[in-house]
Order: sequence, then C-alpha cells, then structure tokens
Amino acid sequence: MPSHANQAGRPGHPGRPGHPDPSVTVLGLGPMGRALAGAFLAAGVRTTVWNRTPGRDGELVARGAVSAPSAAEAVAASGLTVVCVVDYDAADAILRRAEVATALKGRTVVNLSADVPDRARESAEWAAGHGVRYLDGAIMTPTPTIGTPAAVFLHSGPAALYEEHRPVLDALGGTHTHLGEEVGRAAAYDIALLDIFWTAMAGYAHALAVARAEGIGARELAPFARGIGAILPGQFEETAREADAGTFSGEGNPLTSAVSTMEHVVRVSEAHGIDAGVMRAAEGMARRTVGLGHGTDGFVRIAEVLGRTGARGR
Ligand code: NDP
Repeated sequence: MPSHANQAGRPGHPGRPGHPDPSVTVLGLGPMGRALAGAFLAAGVRTTVWNRTPGRDGELVARGAVSAPSAAEAVAASGLTVVCVVDYDAADAILRRAEVATALKGRTVVNLSADVPDRARESAEWAAGHGVRYLDGAIMTPTPTIGTPAAVFLHSGPAALYEEHRPVLDALGGTHTHLGEEVGRAAAYDIALLDIFWTAMAGYAHALAVARAEGIGARELAPFARGIGAILPGQFEETAREADAGTFSGEGNPLTSAVSTMEHVVRVSEAHGIDAGVMRAAEGMARRTVGLGHGTDGFVRIAEVLGRTGARGR
C-alpha cells in the first residue's frame, strides 16, 4: 500500500525551514527531462542541466538554468540529481562513468527513467555499493502535465530519503505517491499501468482501421469511443474487489458472451484484410479460460488463469 499520497503544485515554495536553498540537477533533456527542468525552474529551484547531445538546453538556460559542461560537473552542482533518459541502459551509461559515480558519492539520485523493476533493483544495489543515495520513480502522465496538478509521479525506495527530497520533488506539481521501500515497486506499478495503456491504445488504433474500412471516420467514432473509455474506471474498481477476493461474477456479462463479440471483431477485421493479431490474442486468452470451465465467470477470471502459470511463487 502507498504510505502516502500528496497533492503538490505549490510553485515558488519548494523550500522549507532548514532547506533554504533548494537545488536540483536534471540529467537528460529529452521532452520529459526538459519538462521536469522547466517545472523546477518555474518553482524557483536552482536547476543545473546536462544532456548527452549538447544544444538541448537553450530555452532552459534562457529561463535561468545552469548548463553544465559534463555530467560529473552537473551532479556536483546539487545534492539531488534527477535522471530522466530513455531507459536504464542510458541512465547507467551516464551514472556509472567513474567520474560521475565519484561526484555522486553522498548525493541522491532520483531515477525517473522508465524500465523494468529488476533494473531499478539493480540500480539501487549499484548505488548502495558506490555510496550513492538512491530513489526510483516513474512518471505516469505526459509532458504537458508536468508542473501542473494533473501530473502523476510514483516513487519507491527509502522513505526517509523520499521525505528529505519531497520539498524539491513537489515542485514538479501533481500527485506524488511513495509506494514503499521496495525499490522496484514504482517500476512494477509503471509496468502494470503501461500494460493497460498500450493494449488499450493498440485496440484503439486497430478499431480506427476497422472503422475506416467500414466507412466510419475517426471523428465520427470519437464520441462513442469516449463512451467506451468512460466505462473502464467503474470496471477497474468493481473487478479489483472481485480479483482480490477471488470471485469473478459473470452475472450480466459472462465470458462466453465476451468471446462471441470478440470473435465478431476478428471476423470483420480479417474480412477487410486487417491484421487482427491483438484481438486474436485477447480472444485466445478468453477462449482458454472458457475451456477451463469458467464460461459463466466475468472477464477478469482471465487474470487468475494467466496467473496460474505466470506466478513465481509470490
Ligand atoms: P526519450 O525516452 O526519447 O529519452 C530521451 C533522452 O534519453 C535524451 O536525453 C537522450 O539523450 C537520452 N538518451 C538516450 N540514449 C542515451 C544514452 N545511451 N546515453 C545517454 N543519454 C541517452 O524521451 P523523453 O524525454 O520523453 O522520456 C524520458 C523518460 O521519461 C523515458 O523513460 C520515458 O519512458 C519517460 N516518460 C516520458 C513521457 C513523455 O510523455 N514523454 C511520459 C512518461 C514517462 P540525447 O538527446 O543525447 O539523445
């Protein structure tokens, strides 16, 4: 369970008594790194920036950021370094260079790059072995949300370290949730949430292709697509209770009925010569679950069936 969540978004007041001069270094100036650095600047945090490819910091420097000539000098400028690059191979390529690791000794890294939970655990181990204080994190919302109440950040790692740096992290706005001391937890939530997002987006992209083949434009479909999206939050709440309790009521919408409509999507798709791979995979999971005798159960029984072979004894 998250130990706490807080609404931040208090631009201009990231400091607190005893921390009069908040500062941060941002490593990685892709779209997200630039958004993070921009939010720190907007909140009055002294911000040093560095990126592998030079020239990405012009706008930030114009707004008051300090451009460091090297990653080692960048991390030496602040007690807290936020790294946000494409993945942990990229983060390692920066952080594990000898001169950077030396400069990081005794300082804190918050790694907001996306990757898998084991890479977060590995990074924490590396950090512990090099005297670097380490927090892991994940960003769940796109760049325009950063610095606004709509941003969502997940954190994991030592709670005391998180509390220490919260005043500066809060400058990023939005909701920050510390998910626990187990450092892989933020990445694990990220993976589960990305699983929802990308399969939903794949379904949406496929639906656009099938709709177009049937003469329906994306804008015509949009109001109804929005309606489908609006069904999901209620489904998540209701089925979460069922999934945790191990009951999967199919009353009103049994799996057998779901399989039937999924098969219709496959049929229409393939009649138009459109690859139905994503829906075929979903239909296959549902059919296997029906085949195991769960046809009258609700859709989320699939999760329990998948978990039978997928669990690693947890
Ligand atoms: P990218 O994921 O494309 O990351 C670009 C950054 O990674 C650049 O700073 C790039 O440096 C750096 N990079 C890539 N390879 C290396 C390497 N080998 N060594 C050093 N630096 C490297 O863009 P974003 O900024 O958008 O994303 C950053 C992270 O934020 C990702 O993990 C992403 O999943 C996550 N995120 C992004 C969201 C978004 O809306 N953009 C939303 C939520 C999370 P260079 O300029 O030199 O190529």
